[in-house]
Formats: sequence, C-alpha cells, structure tokens
Amino acid sequence: MFDYHVHSEFSADCTAPMAASCRAAIEAGVTEIAFTDHVDHEPADMGRGYYRAEAYFRSVDAVRAEFGDHLTVLAAVEVDFNERIATEVGRFLEAHRYDFVIGSVHYGEDGRIIFPDYFSDRTLDEVFAAYFGRVRHAVETGWFDSIGHLDLPKRYAPREHRIYDPLAYREELRPVFAAMIERGVAFEINTSGLRQAPKTSMPGPAIVRWYVDAGGRLITTGSDSHAPQTVGAGLAKTLAMLTLCGVDEVSAFKDRRRRQVRIAELVPPTEAEGVPA
Ligand SMILES: [Zn+2]
Ligand SMILES: [Zn+2]
Repeated sequence: MFDYHVHSEFSADCTAPMAASCRAAIEAGVTEIAFTDHVDHEPADMGRGYYRAEAYFRSVDAVRAEFGDHLTVLAAVEVDFNERIATEVGRFLEAHRYDFVIGSVHYGEDGRIIFPDYFSDRTLDEVFAAYFGRVRHAVETGWFDSIGHLDLPKRYAPREHRIYDPLAYREELRPVFAAMIERGVAFEINTSGLRQAPKTSMPGPAIVRWYVDAGGRLITTGSDSHAPQTVGAGLAKTLAMLTLCGVDEVSAFKDRRRRQVRIAELVPPTEAEGVPA
C-alpha cells in the first residue's frame, strides 16, 4: 500500500523522526511512503519559514539507505496554496526537485486558516464554494501532482454540518474535476478524516463515485500522519472503498512521473473483504 501523505520533524506541527515512521510503515504493510512536510508561505502560518529543504533531503537520503530494501521512500512535499501566495509557491517549486508534490488549500481568501472559528461568520455554502474555487486554481497552475484533502472544511465545520452533501456543490466541483482530468492532476483520499471528527475520508465515497462518472481515474492515498502510530492507518479500508466505487487503480509517483498500479496487486482480496466502506 502507498502512504503518500506523511509528516515528519520537518513540519512545524510534527516531531516524528522519519526513521520511526519508516519502521511503522513497514510494520503496517506500506510499501511506499512519501514524506510530505508542510511548506507554508501564508504570512499568518505558524510554520512559515520552518521548513529546511537541505536538511529534509539529507534525512530522506538517510532513511533510504536504512530502509531502502523494504520500503520505497519518496521525497515529497505538501505545499499550501492560495492565489495570494501563488508567486512564492511557484518560486519554491522551481527551486526544489521532488518525486511527488501535493497542493493543499488550508486558508480562506482573507488569510484566515480554515479552523472551527472560520465558520463563525460564514455559512457552510460560502465556505465550500470558495474552497472548491481555490482548489480549482491550484489544479489550473499545473504545479501539483495531487490535491490534498479535497473537502477539508468538513473536518472543522460545526457538528451539525459534518455530514454534508457534496452533491450540493456540483456546480463548484464540476470544473474542478474537468481541470483535473484535462491536466492529469490527481486528488488524494486523505484517511485522517476516518480517525478524526468527520469519521469519513476526505473526500468520501460520494465524491469519488461522481469523479469516476465524470471520467476521472487518478487517485493517491495518504494517512496525513503526524505520528508514527498512524502511518498506514485507513489505507486498506480506503482501497476497499475505492474498489466499491469502481476504481481499480491508484496513482504512484517517482521524479514527478505517474504510474498507475492495480489495487488488486496491493491488497490480497481476502484482506479487503469484510472491510466496511
Ligand atoms: Zn493539509
Ligand atoms: Zn498534511
């Protein structure tokens, strides 16, 4: 299985050494791990200026040397994106070479992070419509291999909104999918939602089915782990969910080049059986 969203001590909100997460990955049956530390350019972000690229790449080399026989380690990154910081993001990506790049939207148009407070003076519709609009811009830059946590606002929405109906945002999602399919940009199934408030992955099966109907087939999988204990968490369940949604492949990357891998090759059918979607 591929865990393509894992943080390490190179993220401001994480203290896990890469080696500990590599050990946990092997234990959990993960065969490829991508260390996607945060790169933040938003002025208000606690992690702005925290990332140290040279030390990051040295650390990736070290775990490759130690675990390379059992685990493929990708040099990767989770880059925060919105229009206001686009110039800095573009410059950063030009200056660094990764295997895999996630583009994630974490902030609103006013520079406020999408946490529970963000909902105090906005309706759920306003939040989602604007969020999907920014995701669309991220896709259209062509800078990202995959889009992180496509419907993140549901994680922080007030309790009564956590089970939202994604089909209510058809008009906003349609151009997002069209841009993804046209440009060959994937989105991830972020399993952290399964273990946090929404109790469903980000995004969940309704969006996946709709994307498949639209002709999409590029999906990556990641746990968004900030601690070794959660590396690989929810991946088997997610692969079962994808299969039920008519997806039979997931995307893998190396040197920013994508290959499609059959889910049947990743999880023996017996293991996927009996896992509720
Ligand atoms: Zn994120
Ligand atoms: Zn993350």
